[in-house]
Amino acid sequence: MIYSPGYSKIFECLAGACPDTCCAGWEIIIDEATALYYSGLNTDLGQRIKSSLATDTENNNYFKLHDNRCPFLNGDDLCEIHIHLGEEHTSKVCRQHPWFIEEYEGFTEKTLGLSCPAVSRIVFSSGIAGAYPEVTVSSDDEVLNVLTKERSKLFAAMDENRPADENIDLLFAAAGSAQIKIDELEPVGTMCGFAPPVFEELCSFAGFLFNNCEILTEKWKNLLRVCQVKLPKEGFENYLKINSAVMNRGLAYYVYRYFLKAVNTLDCGAYAKFIALSVLTPALISFVTGEAFEECCRLYSKEIEHCPDNLEMIYDLITSI
Ligand code: SF4
Repeated sequence: MIYSPGYSKIFECLAGACPDTCCAGWEIIIDEATALYYSGLNTDLGQRIKSSLATDTENNNYFKLHDNRCPFLNGDDLCEIHIHLGEEHTSKVCRQHPWFIEEYEGFTEKTLGLSCPAVSRIVFSSGIAGAYPEVTVSSDDEVLNVLTKERSKLFAAMDENRPADENIDLLFAAAGSAQIKIDELEPVGTMCGFAPPVFEELCSFAGFLFNNCEILTEKWKNLLRVCQVKLPKEGFENYLKINSAVMNRGLAYYVYRYFLKAVNTLDCGAYAKFIALSVLTPALISFVTGEAFEECCRLYSKEIEHCPDNLEMIYDLITSI
């Protein structure tokens, strides 16, 4: 069984009109099957492809960027490989983007990533009621069943007309309830706490993103830089009230993407904290810099969700507190 958010049906890549194309700014890994296909190409394009390939320290093939762009992105911001060889001969990562595919025991979840401008527009303009499908199959993994049930109850209780901080409280209550049931199935000892992050934690997390995480874009670096001073708390509560509707949509996206991941670590508090930080930190950055919350949230997704090293560092930070 494959589940996807309801809004996935209306997704359409903006292609040449995209304001932040996914074909620039990061290393484009070429999977082995595609690299093998390219190695047999004796056309001019094939020669260009072969001379653009390099190998990274983990032995992955990738395209060397030109001016920080994929060398096959043409002047109209369209992919030459897609045009001349067909989408099926683009690399797997290009065919999958912007989808995240999570395989769980008994079902799969496919979610469009918020880093994509087209997805961001859809996520922040669609209501959350009914957008995220309930898992209706029962898994052989009892922990997963606990998590899917608690997540469904959480979605049923979340209301986008309610202040975002109240929905975040519901998230921690759901994580706590799931943890009690999981502990009965598989006791694992000390776990992360179940309290939403306070203002000072958000400031310190913005510092961590700036000082410790890998940073991909200048725009993100500049937004974070502005937050590296003592930030005024005054007005933040009001900001949260005014922006609750979009924050709740961002919250629903992160709940859907991460609540079930505790199946691997059995630490529901850590994922609740990560979800809350992923909404409240973009809110803090937006509050301080004046950049729209939706754009801060989209950039956060691009910088964090697509970088396994950043995700790992953040998980380690959360579980070390
Ligand atoms: S970021 Fe999204 S809209 Fe832009 S080119 Fe990539 S898939 Fe298309």
